[in-house]
Parts: sequence; C-alpha cells; structure tokens
Amino acid sequence: MHDGVPVPTAMPLRLRAICADITTLALDAIVNAANSSLLGGGGVDGAIHRAAGPELLQECRLLGGCRVGDAKLTRGYRLPARQVIHTVGPVWQDGTHGEPDRLASCYRRCIEVAAGAGLRSIAFPGISTGVYGYPVELAAPIAVTTVREQMARHPGLAEIVFCCYSELHLAIYRRQLDASGADPEAR
Ligand code: ADP
Repeated sequence: MHDGVPVPTAMPLRLRAICADITTLALDAIVNAANSSLLGGGGVDGAIHRAAGPELLQECRLLGGCRVGDAKLTRGYRLPARQVIHTVGPVWQDGTHGEPDRLASCYRRCIEVAAGAGLRSIAFPGISTGVYGYPVELAAPIAVTTVREQMARHPGLAEIVFCCYSELHLAIYRRQLDASGADPEAR
C-alpha cells in the first residue's frame, strides 16, 4: 500500500451547471453573449451592461467589435465578477451554415482568453440560445464537449460554471454533463 503517504492526484476541475442570473456570480470572469458591435444589446448582454455600469460600455467602445466565434476581455467594473469575456455566437439558421463550428469557437476562444489572462474561474451563459435561436439541445453538447477539451489544455482553470437561466436549460445541461462523465459531486 502507500504507508500513509498521500497519493498525488490531479486537481479535479469543477465543472457544473447551475440556474442563476450570471450577473450575480463572483468568479474571475463571466462570459457575455454579445453582438459583434460589443456596444450592448438585449438579453444577457443588456443585463451585464446594466449591472456593470457605464464604464463597461466605455471600455467596449475601444475594442473595435468582435467577430463571430472570437472573444475579448474587459474589466467587470460594478459586477461581482472581476472580468467579462465578450464573445459573439452564431445566429442559428438551420445548422448547415457553420453554426456548430462557430459556437465551439466561442467556447474555445473564451477559455484561451481566460487562460491567457491567468483567470481560474469562469461562468458561461448559453451562448446563442436566446435571441440568436440556437436550439439548446444542440448547443449544450457543443458547450460541454468543447469546454472539456479545453480544460485538458489549460490546467490552470479551476472552475467552470454553465449558468442557465431556466430550469429547462439546467436539466438539459445536467443531462449532458452526466452523459459526458462529469463528477456528479461537481454539479
Ligand atoms: P444570444 O443573442 O447569444 O442568443 P441572449 O442574451 O438572447 O443571447 O441569450 C443567451 C442565453 O442567456 C439564453 O439562454 C438566455 O436565457 C440567457 N440569459 C439571459 N439573461 C441572463 C442572465 N441574466 N443570466 C444568465 N443567463 C441569461
């Protein structure tokens, strides 16, 4: 046996889904499902700008917009989260116009940006699953799979939260996490 010597184990990354208003989460960063102007909009974007205050819009004006599938970092201002990662999801058409690759790119780029800035805890909303019309049953597997792939590449990340805004979305994400082998303790 191990004679009482602790066996080193990899630090488990906490990956879980919750139902919450993302603007209330005190993590290193929350992700904003923005539009390509980065100048504010409805849905989660509007909620984040309202909670962060006008300084967020001022900083966003300096960024020159953001392409679909890319991500840009700002401060969080009056949010409990220290930073905001703004990403632009694809508008759902019928799934044959590159939507899955672009959605995966959003999750990948957000994590690359977060890891590049040394951030350790991030919350994602359901990018594109609101006004942009991406069916959540199709978006959740892409979100979970892409985040899992990126976790393996960026071991500095300690906690990733899928922040759902309805019990229906939460159930879909939890099913997906279970199917992909997430630790049930980490939900
Ligand atoms: P998109 O244009 O990318 O579809 P939306 O803001 O319309 O962005 O919706 C994205 C997701 O964010 C939807 O699932 C919506 O229910 C959810 N959402 C809206 N407001 C909040 C909030 N305050 N916190 C967390 N999720 C939110």
